[in-house]
Amino acid sequence: MSIKLFDTTLRDGTQREGVSLTTEDKIRIARELDALGLHYIEAGFPASNPKDLDFFEGFDDSELRNARLVAFTRARRPNGRAEDDPAVTLLASLSAPVACIVAKGWRLHVEKVLRTTPEENLESVRDTVAYLAAAGKEVIFDAEHFFDGFRDDPEYSLALLRAAAGAGATTLVLCDTNGGTLPTELKAVVARTVRELPEVEIGIHTHNDGGCGVANALAAVEAGATHVQGTINGVGERCGNCDLITTIANLQLKMGVKVLEDERLRRLTEVSNYVSELMNLTPDTHRPYVGRSAFAHKGGLHVDGISKDPATYEHVAPELVGNVRRTPVGELSGKNSIRTKAEELGLDAGDVTDVLAAIKRREYEGYHYEAADASLALLIGRTTGEDRPLFELETFRIITEKRAGGETTTEATIKLSVKGERVISTAEGNGPVNALDRALRQAIGPHYPELKEIHLSNYKVRILDEHRATAATTRVLIDSTDGKRVWGAVGVDENIIEASWQALVDGLEYGVNGKRG
Ligand SMILES: [Zn+2]
Repeated sequence: MSIKLFDTTLRDGTQREGVSLTTEDKIRIARELDALGLHYIEAGFPASNPKDLDFFEGFDDSELRNARLVAFTRARRPNGRAEDDPAVTLLASLSAPVACIVAKGWRLHVEKVLRTTPEENLESVRDTVAYLAAAGKEVIFDAEHFFDGFRDDPEYSLALLRAAAGAGATTLVLCDTNGGTLPTELKAVVARTVRELPEVEIGIHTHNDGGCGVANALAAVEAGATHVQGTINGVGERCGNCDLITTIANLQLKMGVKVLEDERLRRLTEVSNYVSELMNLTPDTHRPYVGRSAFAHKGGLHVDGISKDPATYEHVAPELVGNVRRTPVGELSGKNSIRTKAEELGLDAGDVTDVLAAIKRREYEGYHYEAADASLALLIGRTTGEDRPLFELETFRIITEKRAGGETTTEATIKLSVKGERVISTAEGNGPVNALDRALRQAIGPHYPELKEIHLSNYKVRILDEHRATAATTRVLIDSTDGKRVWGAVGVDENIIEASWQALVDGLEYGVNGKRG
């Protein structure tokens, strides 16, 4: 059996409350999903969201090696024509080779929300699918509210699918949009649909409102669905979508359905953490398979059992998904993963014992390296004695002044030595980090002309309170770019300025030394 994985983290996933991704974040996530080996990446609804349009216009999808890029839209408006509907024609003009079209699969919605007739709804689907298929797109059809509609009027739900298939859609996706269907009912409906429409691929799109997002996707596969939609970590509207990470692990390790190469399966933990970092969400440490606690053994009996045979308390081996077994006494080392990472960064970590110890110490302090390649590379370099700092700091000072009724201004003064020369520099900025960044660039810029091309592209702050009773710690993640690549750097301290400074310096040092090779 071959199953296609369709990721909608960048469209449905961004509907999660509190999540906002920049275009740059979306590009990085798309690359990561492609490297993981997913088959489709749905990256947005360009007709409804200007940021999504920016993504589709700015991202060259020919760089994707595994995935096909998907743009999403709705079927054309009732009583119109597809070729006159900008939400439809826009998709034809984009380079993304796949169009995903959504339409209502429930008469309640057709009549009450769209305020049109069931027949016109079918016509709108035929017209839209045919138009985009004629424009050369692979068309995937999402039947919204399919299971609620099926309960109400199965013949209409099937007629909608036939309309889409007849007009050229090659995959028909059954959506449990409200997320409340339970696996037994869902499985029966999928099985019947697969029997009725044997000539097309049937897909599944589930939400987690009943806590069954993943279970429903798996039930659908058992019933014959061959295309599974979901998001990384299950992010999405309300209670979220089907979690693709858990689904992939279950399909491959429990159901014997090979969806990814084994070495890619081992990247699941890393990808899950990476997406959490970019979404600025604290990763849930208890996520199935990939959470930090997923293979943590604390109880004495458990630890004893594990030491005799890991199968006593583990449903699968943690390495299969890139996770590690942890016990309170002496964490097991991840030497291989450090070696792999060092190679990936073009570094020689030598005997990785020291590097591993340094990383563990820092992780305990709150550092996270999943989205901070620059800081990790520098940490390896500093541990193996191969670092090349850009300058030596003497002091810096920041003054922020607020005048009653007026603006707040910030000024930073920095004293340092660069290549044997002592420099004092002062700059203003719209905040402390910006002022510090400017003063630093002004001081060392003449010695490093490459700095002109390096810009900060993202600044994220998280307060960490989970691991310390005393004071809250601040973690800052700064992304820098030279227009071609993006790299992340991390800083941690009780003082937000100090945390920002660490990330700022790492970001610049990595950028400059990277350019010099
Ligand atoms: Zn959805």
